[in-house]
Amino acid sequence: MESPAVPFGDLRRQNAVMRAELDAAMARVIESGWYILGREVASFEEEFAAYCGAALCVGVASGAEALYLALAALDAVGPDAEVITVANACMYQVAAILQAGARPVLIDVDPMTHTMDPQALEAAISSRTRAIMPVHLFGRLADMPAIMAIADRHGIPVVEDAAQAHGAWLFGTDGHPRKAGVWGAIACFSFYPSKNLGALGDGGALTTSDPEIAARLRRLRMYGWGSKYHTREPGGRNSRLDELQAALLRVKLRYLDAGNAARRERASWYAELLAAAPLTLPSPDHGHVYHLYVIESSQRDLLRSHLQARGVGCDVHYPEPAHLQPAYADLGYAPGSLPHTETLAGRILSLPMFPELSRVEVERVAAVVIEGVSR
Ligand SMILES: *Cc1c(COP(=O)(O)O)cnc(C)c1O
Repeated sequence: MESPAVPFGDLRRQNAVMRAELDAAMARVIESGWYILGREVASFEEEFAAYCGAALCVGVASGAEALYLALAALDAVGPDAEVITVANACMYQVAAILQAGARPVLIDVDPMTHTMDPQALEAAISSRTRAIMPVHLFGRLADMPAIMAIADRHGIPVVEDAAQAHGAWLFGTDGHPRKAGVWGAIACFSFYPSKNLGALGDGGALTTSDPEIAARLRRLRMYGWGSKYHTREPGGRNSRLDELQAALLRVKLRYLDAGNAARRERASWYAELLAAAPLTLPSPDHGHVYHLYVIESSQRDLLRSHLQARGVGCDVHYPEPAHLQPAYADLGYAPGSLPHTETLAGRILSLPMFPELSRVEVERVAAVVIEGVSR
């Protein structure tokens, strides 16, 4: 008998858990008569900053917007500016750097963690480097103690791309856990619906401990206005988080820790069930929040077809590194220039991972994976 399909994701299950609260939040906004930059956004900014352990938060229109605004607020703009980032996290970072008119400098990742290799970072820094943008990929923090040590030594600000890492943490040099959002000068979050903290539409935010940076970000998200109709900041645009999404995010934020704990539990189930299979599983990390559960296989394409044929959702995050995307051919990176990034792109496969996934579903996914790699 054919077992039921397992979806890659299912946001309806998450919404069902908190449906009454989401409905009440939505009604509150509708009845307020105020829909852009009001009390819900201000409250969410306070609550999310407190959650991260950051002093300040500025809500914006999306994660991609947050990356661009961070570079603008740090003056990492214009043709003389270089921004160092990785090439395995889709092309969000490269797009933001090019929007800022700066030059992306792409470096390789550590093959175990899939995040920025600190040694490659040290080698890529030049007199034109204006910012460093590590990505906390799949829910795991980049090696922030090492990256911050290098950045601080050179006096270069760090912009964390924390779009996949709400609530993820690592121990700081003082021995205390520090979450994504408090390591660099600025951190950027996305609330795209499928992220660990997701809105019911687009949304994003930046965290910082610097009041001047926060004030600049608030001007930049609103046409560059210093006060109503008075433009004080070049490079401003319309990049606002709306009241409705902020109200919904305030509900969802209260479920974030439980969701992350559930993701970690499902990751431990996969680790147990797939331990004997000829695969590379994510290396252990206590502060990982498993935005995605990504395995590696030398037979990735066959395995993916097998899962699809057996009704198990899966995807590849991401199949084509930024430096090899045709749209970015001008950047001048030849195939082979980022070897770990390129090898991983051919091996990675993301399995279903969301807090409401059942044990039976994880067992079904694992059984189909094992069948796929044993053929
Ligand atoms: C989703 C994502 C973004 C972009 O966020 P949007 O809100 O979709 O613009 C940026 N960086 C990473 C790593 C992401 O996963």
